[in-house]
Amino acid sequence: MFILYRDMRLYGQMENYYTEARKQGVFFVRFDKDHPPVAKASDEGMLVTVKDHVLQRDIEICADILTLSAGLMPNLSDELTNKMKLNANPEGYFLEAHVKLRPVDMGTEAVFLCGTAHSPQLVSEAIVQASAAASRAVTILSKDEIKLSAIKAEVFPDHCVKCLTCVRSCPFEVPQFNVAKGEIEIDPALCQGCGVCACVCPRQAIKLNNYEDNQITCEIETLLAEGI
Ligand code: SF4
Ligand code: SF4
Repeated sequence: MFILYRDMRLYGQMENYYTEARKQGVFFVRFDKDHPPVAKASDEGMLVTVKDHVLQRDIEICADILTLSAGLMPNLSDELTNKMKLNANPEGYFLEAHVKLRPVDMGTEAVFLCGTAHSPQLVSEAIVQASAAASRAVTILSKDEIKLSAIKAEVFPDHCVKCLTCVRSCPFEVPQFNVAKGEIEIDPALCQGCGVCACVCPRQAIKLNNYEDNQITCEIETLLAEGI
């Protein structure tokens, strides 16, 4: 048996499978993407020619059976990504909030991911990740009430000049211009406390609770005073 491959990742205990396969006489031949294997029918059966990257020469394999293992390609929907404010990596798979601390949470609260939405996976891996995502969802669905973080943005209408910079900048589209009142409003139930609006407001008309300027200044002064 010959396995022609471009790249191989043997994470976790998978190295054992590779070692066992080599012991049983399976050959692994790596090929360059510019020189893919060529298969053609011959009198002796299917003839596969591949350039071995170690030997730097073509080798010919006469095969009884030729099996193609197709790669997995992500198929992201821009509409879904934009509507749900989801992040994706450069390869096109959805990105978790934190690879170790929140591995099945997405950046958007109460959205969880698993399986091949996250990365190419074995079925066993997808099942484990799906169980984790379901468990995370249950932590929300099992509660009658949800406690929100106290870190929320708040607008000072007197300082606001209605430039709408915060409306355009908020990654969660929380600040809204209330036409009837002529004011910018931030719904504390929707605000994620990221602080972007407070940073970009040219009038400093938005404060982020627990991260107000005087609190941060006080912390810095205390640290400097104690020589830390
Ligand atoms: S960025 Fe500041 S000044 Fe501009 S609309 Fe928002 S709160 Fe008002
Ligand atoms: S703190 Fe972040 S989520 Fe909340 S309104 Fe400002 S930009 Fe939006």
